[in-house]
Formats: sequence, structure tokens, C-alpha cells
Amino acid sequence: MIVKKTSGDHMSLVYQSTRDAHNTVTASQAILQGLATDGGLFTPTSYPQVALDFDQLKDASYQEVAKLVLSAFLDDFTAEELDHCIDQAYDSKFDTPAIAPLVKLNGQYNLELFHGSTIAFKDMALSILPYLMTTAAKKHGLENKIVILTATSGDTGKAAMAGFADVPGTEIIVFYPKDGVSKVQELQMTTQTGSNTHVVAIDGNFDDAQTNVKQMFNDADLRERLAAHHLQFSSANSMNIGRLVPQIVYYVYAYAQLVKSGEIGSGDPVNFTVPTGNFGNILAAYYAKQIGLPIGKLICASNENNVLTDFFKTRIYDKKRSFKVTTSPSMDILVSSNLERLIFHLSGNNAEKTSALMDALVHQGEYELTDFDPEILETFAADYATEAETATEIKRVYEENAYIEDPHTAVASAVYQKYLATNEDAHPTVIASTASPYKFPVVAVEAVTGQSDLSDFDALAQLQEISGVPVPPAVDGLETAPVRHRTTVKASDMQQAVEEYLGL
Ligand SMILES: *Cc1c(COP(=O)(O)O)cnc(C)c1O
Repeated sequence: MIVKKTSGDHMSLVYQSTRDAHNTVTASQAILQGLATDGGLFTPTSYPQVALDFDQLKDASYQEVAKLVLSAFLDDFTAEELDHCIDQAYDSKFDTPAIAPLVKLNGQYNLELFHGSTIAFKDMALSILPYLMTTAAKKHGLENKIVILTATSGDTGKAAMAGFADVPGTEIIVFYPKDGVSKVQELQMTTQTGSNTHVVAIDGNFDDAQTNVKQMFNDADLRERLAAHHLQFSSANSMNIGRLVPQIVYYVYAYAQLVKSGEIGSGDPVNFTVPTGNFGNILAAYYAKQIGLPIGKLICASNENNVLTDFFKTRIYDKKRSFKVTTSPSMDILVSSNLERLIFHLSGNNAEKTSALMDALVHQGEYELTDFDPEILETFAADYATEAETATEIKRVYEENAYIEDPHTAVASAVYQKYLATNEDAHPTVIASTASPYKFPVVAVEAVTGQSDLSDFDALAQLQEISGVPVPPAVDGLETAPVRHRTTVKASDMQQAVEEYLGL
């Protein structure tokens, strides 16, 4: 490792539940538990000091930056443990040694987070989470089998299974909304191999899946029955701090690349625009800022499910609105779980206040943030892109750069254009590019060529022609791969499905 932490080596960071000040754990315990049993999320109450010296970091590899960031936040792991996890995770599963390359386009930089095995940004954290979790289990002498219970809006499920498939001591159960994912996303999941993987479609949307998963986590009776069978739940969703911390790495890495290429000087502020659903990715950027990364604005980009845009503009979070199925399905979310962590920070790390607001969200469907740290709030800007604006943006970026963005990235890119039109802010801006267009080929090709009614597999071939980027292995052969998972259940029967898989 080329850079050391400046202090804090002896003190352990505290991860506290956002809903109970007395519920505190270390990093490895937080990763094992996933969610706090009081319904809250384990969240750092202070930030480690990290020496971000970009004269050195500009020449660091992705793995070296990961070691710097992870050792600071996951401070009860040893250096050897983290080295092992990082080296196993960020290897040739990624199709480029850069791991997360930064591409310069006209007026923006796209940070490509889709070079892992499932071609979406979830791979950035989910390729390391199984190693962190099994290492933590060993550390704590855990004998239970870990059951990863996951709700997915399309990308987490596949990336989690790719990470956990056939990992000894683990079982993974994934729920996805039957009509809420792209054909490619669905096939990626239903063709998943591995004797410990289970995939279930539900009659319902992502929020239904996420709510029921959370309920199972918080069910004390279910927890006891699991324990009697030597089982325990953990989460691969971004509610697990083991997902968030690895996502801080690429913000630091992107900044280092900008310094290296001479686009900025060390210390110059950079904005990040993040296509947002569960608020995990952008929260990781916020944590990067807290450890000293020179970030100007964090621009929170939503699709037509624009509950976060409204929240940042009015400070009222109101989920009572119709759920829209869009061409950026991984952002079709009305209850953004990780916003709870920001609410906690906005209210001065106050668990009582956070808990009250989250209760109001459940019982009244809304809450208003009245008492908050204005400096934190002002870090964020927010807007959304309509379906038409998203398609137009894919076309604009293609025409100007011969580069094809996936619809999620295009939402962010469109929102950045809106931001530019209304704000005097000349800081360089990085767009978090969260998926390969090959994951959403129909939308990408239709936006560029105007063709409609393409099948997913015709679109794949056309995309290759238009973009000149070869079809990645993640989707090549998907059409003919055997489907191994065919179960569909009602949202209300999710727990029953879990009990059957686990033989409870
Ligand atoms: C999950 C996902 C998002 C949203 O990220 P959050 O961390 O949930 O805000 C955006 N784009 C893609 C492609 C995703 O898979």
C-alpha cells in the first residue's frame, strides 16, 4: 500500500443503527448482520482520516486505492484479510485492468462502472462482498450458514448471485418484480447456476419485494427458527455497509485519474452526477466527500419515479404516488432505503429523530424534514429526466461522441444537462455510468435509430454494429442458456417461499 492512514489506527470505527443509539457494532459485525434488527441501518457516526495525496494516488492501481479506503472504513479487518478480499474481487472478472475506466466525452466524463461480470455497477461492490462476509464469519467463529436474502430491481440479484454462487457456507435467495426488469436482466437471473442459488419472480414491484425482505429481517420469531436450524440472514442490498464502502473507492479513483490526465489540479472540486434508485451509490460519493475528496456538488438524478427530486427541492418525502415502470428499471423505486442514512446525518446522527421520520413514512406515507444541517443538504442538487428526455440524451451523446450510454447513465447525463442550463457551475463533472448499454439493448438501439419492436436479441446484434463494442460475455449466449429458475409467487407469499427453500 502506498499511502497510510494518518490516524485512527488504534480506534475502531463505530457503526450505529440509524434507529437506536445503543445498537452499535464494528464494521465486520455490521457486514455479517446486514441490517440492524431494530429496522435501522448500520451507519458510521464519524469518519476515518484518510490521507488523500493525489500526487501519489494518481499512479495507484484500483486495488491500491481500494486498500486505502477499505482499511480506513473496515478497520477491524487486518491488512492481510483486506488484501485477500481485494485481490480476489478485482481480478480478471473485470474485462479491463483499470477496473473502472474514466472516459472523456464532450463536456463530461463517464466513469464506467460496468466492466465486471454482470455489466452493471453492482459488480463493483458485489464482487468483494462475499469475501468480506466469509472473512468476517471466520473472524467471529460463526458456525451458522449465512442466508443472503435480496430484493432486486434487476441488477443486484444477478451480481449478488455471481458473487455468492457456490460460496461454501452461504445460500442466496433473490426476489425480483416479474414485470419490472428487462428481458436480458431476467434471463441473466433465471439462468444462474450454483447449487446454493434461488431466484423467485414476484407478482408486485420492487418496493413490495424490498418491504417484505425487510420484514423478514425484522421478524424475531423467524430469526429464532433460523438459528435453530443453524442459519442466519444477511443482506447483499446496499443497506449492507459492505456494499457501500467498496463503492467509495471508485470516486477516489476517478478523481485520481482526472489529476493524472491533467484535466484538473489536485484539490480542484469535481461534481458527480449519479443515477439514483436506492440512494446507495450517491451516498458512497457523499462518504468520499466526508473523507476529504474535493467534491463540489453531488447531483442526484432520478427517472420519472422522482420522489428524491421532490425531497431535495421541498424536504418532504412523499411516497404516495403511482409507481412508474420506466426504461431505467433499476431506478424504479419509491422508497429509497439509503436515504435513511442521509436523514440520520442531516439530523445530527440522531437515531430518535430518524426513527420518528421513518415511522411517519410507514404510517402516513410521508415525512417532512424540518430540522437539519443545511451544509449537508446543500451538497446535493437533484432533478429528474422523463422517458423522452432519456431517449433524446442517448441520441445526443451518440451523435456528439459515437458513444452509447445505457438508459440509467442517460438519465444522469440528461439531468446534468438540465443542471448546466440552470446553474453557473463550470466544475468538471463525472457521470456515474452504471450499466453497459448491452444490458438494455432495445432501449439503446431504439433511441439511436428510431426503430421500434426490436427483440432483445436482434437489438444486441444491432448494438454491436452501431457502437463497435463487441457483445460482452455476460449477455453473449444468454438466448440459448438453459433457464433454471421458474418460480413466481405473490408478494405476500415471499416468506413462505423462503421457509420452503430453507426447510424450516
Ligand atoms: C442499482 C442501479 C442504480 C441505482 O443505484 P442506487 O445505489 O440504488 O441508487 C442505477 N443504475 C443501475 C444500472 C443500477 O443497477
